[in-house]
Amino acid sequence: MKPAAFDYVAPGTVDEAVAALAGAGERASILAGGQSLILEMHYRRARPDLVVDINGVRGLDRLRVDGGALHVGALVRHEAFDAFDAFESPLVAPGPLGRLLSLVVVNIAHPPIRALGTMAGSLAWAHPAAEWCAVAVTLDADVELRGPGGTRTVGAGDYFHGPHRTARLPQEMITAVRLPLLDDVTGVAFAEHRRTHASFAQLAAVVTLTVLDGVITEARVGLANAADRPVRAHAAERSLVGSSPLDDDLFGRAGRIAAEHDADPVARPYADVEYQRQVVTVLVGRALRQAYADHGGARR
Ligand SMILES: Cc1cc2nc3c(=O)[nH]c(=O)nc-3n(C[C@H](O)[C@H](O)[C@H](O)COP(=O)(O)OP(=O)(O)OC[C@H]3O[C@@H](n4cnc5c(N)ncnc54)[C@H](O)[C@@H]3O)c2cc1C
Repeated sequence: MKPAAFDYVAPGTVDEAVAALAGAGERASILAGGQSLILEMHYRRARPDLVVDINGVRGLDRLRVDGGALHVGALVRHEAFDAFDAFESPLVAPGPLGRLLSLVVVNIAHPPIRALGTMAGSLAWAHPAAEWCAVAVTLDADVELRGPGGTRTVGAGDYFHGPHRTARLPQEMITAVRLPLLDDVTGVAFAEHRRTHASFAQLAAVVTLTVLDGVITEARVGLANAADRPVRAHAAERSLVGSSPLDDDLFGRAGRIAAEHDADPVARPYADVEYQRQVVTVLVGRALRQAYADHGGARR
């Protein structure tokens, strides 16, 4: 099928883009990488009257570190994070955050899609299985939104409301995603289960782990596709903090807690709820062990 007819504008500034959105409201869609929008338009599940192509907006492709956070402009493509840690520069020196982003990005689709798709577009699209959405929730990222009334920031924990539903208003665009830098001694890991290479995650776990003097002082666990939106596994995190990582079965137990108390899986034709809980148990346990190993590597 081909898209329904639509008008097209290509603003050169954020203000022009926001003005275009304000004029058309819910009938307008921003075009960033187009890797979800164009597909939806072809199937006519999306029928915007106006497409606001932001690819010519100056400055949105910037990636910079400022105020303890990595600022990811709305036109930074997924592929910018490929081997991110290997190309650390004085401008972008993200340490464990860079390691985490480069671990995650290779799980998103395949290279041609990563060359065009954007992190901000993923957060705008808000697919429950999207890896960047789970990362944003795990790290308490901030989503920067610009609308006719100015700029506001929404924490990732409040941003996702359900499949393809977020706190973003139709007249607002995401201008940047701000990811907090992680302490140098923090270990990071990502574990994903999917049916075929490059398909969306059936389930995935994002983990950061900080261990000081043999005790876990901070644990962050986030889950993709384990509910109708990305979720933090707070119960699992609580079970870890204050414990020794050498405690017998600590990570396996945290996995079971995440599966029972934090995940809220939706039954799917190929995966019932019980199966999904088992996968969450395995992925969280595995990611915690990997993060602990990464923590050791970070300290050497
Ligand atoms: C075959 C295939 C496999 C894929 N596999 C994965 C996968 O494994 N994991 C994954 O996470 N994704 C996957 N994707 C989706 C891909 O990551 C998209 O790039 C991403 O979901 C959307 O980013 P985009 O920049 O392409 O946004 P677009 O497609 O341009 O836009 C998507 C939606 O977000 C809105 N939007 C975009 N940018 C903004 C903004 N700055 N402000 C406000 N609204 C905005 C658009 O209006 C639209 O509604 C896959 C896509 C394909 C085609």
